[in-house]
Amino acid sequence: MKRARTKTVATLGPASQSPEVIAALFDAGVDVFRMNFSHGTHEDHRRVYDVIRTVERGKKRPIAVLADLQGPKLRLGKFTADNIALTQGDNYRFDLDKTKGDNTRAPLPHPEIFKVLKKGELLLIDDGRMRFEITSVGDGFAEVKVLTTGKLSANKGVNLPGARLPISAITDKDMRDLSFALSLGVDWVALSFVQGPEDVAELRKLVRGKAGIVSKLEKPLAISRLTEILELSDAVMVARGDLGVEMPPEDVPILQKQIIRAGRAMGKPVIVATQMLESMISNPAPTRAEASDVATAVYDGADAVMLSGESAMGAYPVEAAKMMDRIIRRVERADSYRRLLAAERLERENTTPDAIMAAAHLAADTIRAAAIVTYTSSGSTAYRAARERPIQRIIGLTPNRSTARRLTLVWGVTAIEIEDAQNIDDMIDKAKAQAQKEGIAKTRDRIVVTAGIPFGTPGKTNLMRIARVD
Ligand code: PGA
Ligand code: MN
Repeated sequence: MKRARTKTVATLGPASQSPEVIAALFDAGVDVFRMNFSHGTHEDHRRVYDVIRTVERGKKRPIAVLADLQGPKLRLGKFTADNIALTQGDNYRFDLDKTKGDNTRAPLPHPEIFKVLKKGELLLIDDGRMRFEITSVGDGFAEVKVLTTGKLSANKGVNLPGARLPISAITDKDMRDLSFALSLGVDWVALSFVQGPEDVAELRKLVRGKAGIVSKLEKPLAISRLTEILELSDAVMVARGDLGVEMPPEDVPILQKQIIRAGRAMGKPVIVATQMLESMISNPAPTRAEASDVATAVYDGADAVMLSGESAMGAYPVEAAKMMDRIIRRVERADSYRRLLAAERLERENTTPDAIMAAAHLAADTIRAAAIVTYTSSGSTAYRAARERPIQRIIGLTPNRSTARRLTLVWGVTAIEIEDAQNIDDMIDKAKAQAQKEGIAKTRDRIVVTAGIPFGTPGKTNLMRIARVD
């Protein structure tokens, strides 16, 4: 069976580290596997990476691995008791004092943040469950008012939605994890808590083209500089977990649409992440609301949807992937979805590849071609083809293994690694053979083929041909 156009990313964890489960996840429709560097040792990640590559060889299909770096996640220190109960209206204090916290104060061991906090700003703990308003700030401490009655406990995550933290998005731990992930050969690296384009530029210098860069959008600041961040990124993630803590929850669906639209306009893949089928962590079927949420992301035009806890530590990892795939396919079959694809037209850049892609799209519609086949070495033409959101399938043929793997994240693209073509006739023959082999084109179907002459020069797509499968 042909795979869905909208791609699925699955986070791996204790529930999904065996070869059997990873193979079953791939068969269920997972295209990209996410290794979460907030958890696990390097040895754990190496083992999982090797399993993915073994599954890849067995399936004879490129598979992408995404290494997600933890980034500057802020955390509370320890307490004298397991829980500290606080009541709305109480005064409280966060400081750099390393002694254990109690019902008057708590250690917050991040010196940088006290320099930028301001009176009136919010401080949120434990995914926003506990809220505080800052009433005064001094050298190494902040006085706060408790806004929600509840409990604090050790190591809970801290969010500061109002502050611009004077810290890089790449911590010392991220540095170590990054060089390890690159040494494994991961295809994508995701950066958490991006605050601005500088963070992405810094990562780009370190990655040096060895992997694609996914900027995780989970801070209000990142949203305000979305275009600049997109320019420097190869893809972005709507990281709705932290985004929904730092912004009001009712803003998240609007931001999701805005980010997908901006990403698509620039030809950068967008992943929608977090809580998509959350209840399937402990139930074999999703709620109606979750099914609707996945469908909405597909209708919005996301390149990929993501499973987090559902596949990493839930009781039903494979069922969750199957459910994701069913919902995606159902939307992709719907007339309403097809009308939406046909109606949306984006302005093209004044480049030769965009002109060729516009022509390929029009030609494919006109002759009802079975596929648009793009020869691509860097992958960039396949991204431009996906940006057109054609109803025809896109086949990305590339001699470059890492390009094939990276393209598995991109909407509508079937990525295939092939030997480089010798000349135009050879290229057309290979395109026909692959389209047929994939079950995308049958005998007498026509396909539209794009390529660059001379072969192997990246970003040089300048040719379109129509061919009939014989
Ligand atoms: P995380 O990122 O799971 O690494 O926190 C995703 C999110 O915040 O939604
Ligand atoms: Mn996050």
